[in-house]
Amino acid sequence: SQTKPAYARVMLKISGEALMGDLGYGLHPPTVQRIAAEVQAVHQLGVEICMVIGGGNIFRGLQGSAQGMERTTADYMGMLATVMNALAMQSALEALGIHTRVISAIRMDEVAEPYIRRRAVRHLEKKRVCIFAGGTGNPYFTTDTAAALRASEMACEAIFMGKQVDGIYDSDPKTNPEARRFDTITYDEVLRSNLKVMDASAIALTRDNRMPLIVFSLDEPGGFRGILRGEGTYTRVT
Ligand code: UDP
Repeated sequence: SQTKPAYARVMLKISGEALMGDLGYGLHPPTVQRIAAEVQAVHQLGVEICMVIGGGNIFRGLQGSAQGMERTTADYMGMLATVMNALAMQSALEALGIHTRVISAIRMDEVAEPYIRRRAVRHLEKKRVCIFAGGTGNPYFTTDTAAALRASEMACEAIFMGKQVDGIYDSDPKTNPEARRFDTITYDEVLRSNLKVMDASAIALTRDNRMPLIVFSLDEPGGFRGILRGEGTYTRVT
């Protein structure tokens, strides 16, 4: 049917690990292409799409610092990892004929646009997928906080967290068959119960800005598009 999608502008957050497939490290091009196709299906609905991709498949600042590296340097390396992931996603989306921009919080003008809020909004209006790279540009933050920040700046109607499970459970559904999925849950409950959805500062930011969060499975083919059309299972955090 021709029903209008439930959201006009969304943020899709995925971890870097979502791009590594069954590899233990780095990028698995068929997996990147599969996720790009999920994004394409939503783009075809006319939805304006922002993306933030983590860097954990390549480098995590905390790991580096645990191995003796200076923390802020290690965090900058993590931010650079997100730029590589963003470029891989850009390439896969453009192969599907979708116009994109990689917009970096750290200047590297030969590789990506610098972040200029009004310019990014204009790209969205022109239906270009904006991939925000480099996290927030600050050490000690995560790409979850970057997703929360950019989603608010871009006036997204919700953040979609693409995971390997179809929502937030009261315990790990991969190990506990009795685990129960929440249809809805509050930010405060997520924080209180220490449910692993986003890191605590990102959850606080989405709560304070009243940004709805939708946790869904990216492994379900067509799942992202389905939710935008009011179908499927997910958890909504409000
Ligand atoms: N990072 C950072 N500031 C940011 C975003 C990311 O310092 O605003 C660094 C941090 O070291 C982090 C790494 O980049 O470990 C990769 O990001 P993240 O861990 O969020 O990736 P994900 O877990 O989503 O793959």
